[in-house]
Amino acid sequence: MSKLKEISMNVDSKVIREEELIERLLEQHPSAKVTLERLRIRFEGRSTHGAFAPIKNKGCGACNVTIASGRLQLARMGVFINCANCSRFLYIASAD
Ligand SMILES: [Zn+2]
Repeated sequence: MSKLKEISMNVDSKVIREEELIERLLEQHPSAKVTLERLRIRFEGRSTHGAFAPIKNKGCGACNVTIASGRLQLARMGVFINCANCSRFLYIASAD
């Protein structure tokens, strides 16, 4: 569990680079690499958001779909969740 704690402590930084997100994601879920590649291909050049989107107002920062509270809680602990609509990996970018 120490790994999770470390991750949630880093979540506060304002600007999170994609490289950092990828590193964190693969640390949590090494098997997410396939999904990640698929998402990057799908969204590349089409949106300001790539395979990742920050959580804003309890919703997906890319497509605005609301996130279920149980999943939101996981995200607050530093766990990556996937948007139910666009499938992007979601993370908490600020303390809201
Ligand atoms: Zn979404």
